[in-house]
Amino acid sequence: VIEFTDVEKRFGDNVVLKDLNFSVARGERVTLIGPSGSGKTTILRLVMTLEELTGGYIHIDGEPLTHQQRDGRRVPVPKKQQKRLRTRIGMVFQQFNLFPNMTVLENIIEAPVHVLSQSKQEATQKAQSLLEQVGLPDKADAHPTSLSGGQQQRVAIARALAMDPEILLLDEVTSALDPEVVGDVLNILREVADTTNVTMLIVTHEMGFARDVSHKVMMFDGGRVVEEGHPETIFTAPDHERTQKFLGAVL
Ligand code: ATP
Repeated sequence: VIEFTDVEKRFGDNVVLKDLNFSVARGERVTLIGPSGSGKTTILRLVMTLEELTGGYIHIDGEPLTHQQRDGRRVPVPKKQQKRLRTRIGMVFQQFNLFPNMTVLENIIEAPVHVLSQSKQEATQKAQSLLEQVGLPDKADAHPTSLSGGQQQRVAIARALAMDPEILLLDEVTSALDPEVVGDVLNILREVADTTNVTMLIVTHEMGFARDVSHKVMMFDGGRVVEEGHPETIFTAPDHERTQKFLGAVL
């Protein structure tokens, strides 16, 4: 469902990703691990079209996301197509990124109403059931600033799920949280993984979570995939010295 072909991303002279090729199948959950600065977050931001690709192609369900090949040349896809594909992708960020001037409910129904043209009533009903799912049934009218970090992140998860995304991108979603609420947030995501077929691309430092929910772990270093495999193999018997060193430092 996600396919990276010869992807390159540079910021000025800094080549962050180079000749990156990988694909993620429908329903597959893939965790990206690797040292700080290895390009993991950039990969998620490219899929979300928050960063512009400087080379290569990303396809979603076989459709080019930002650029396509035409008569042997690499040309941008129409903005409309890019937008349409983006509605099938949800993202949860490290810093929650809720709209501070809206209530919890307004945050959740904003995109379903304005992007998917759902009725306010339908979107509100779904939002209420999502708020129950994330354990915040009473917070619909609260403002994000009145909530704790853990609560804000649960709202952000509900907001992403409200779009019924085919692909869910999780970018270090527990890194900004107090340790005692990390488990709650991860449990909600475990349940999403267990009860839906949503494709997940995950960046996390929570190796236990990565091990439980992923079908595949990819180890990055210097913008390249050093090693990939089943979490059991990567975490207990990694082949590559770079992976052994990295896991030795974080586990
Ligand atoms: P971390 O775990 O620290 O978040 P990461 O593996 O997710 O690391 P990225 O955040 O993807 O790494 O960053 C990869 C590289 O890209 C870094 O060298 C970073 O400085 C650079 N970079 C990321 N975003 C930008 C930007 N907007 N402008 C310039 N350089 C950037």
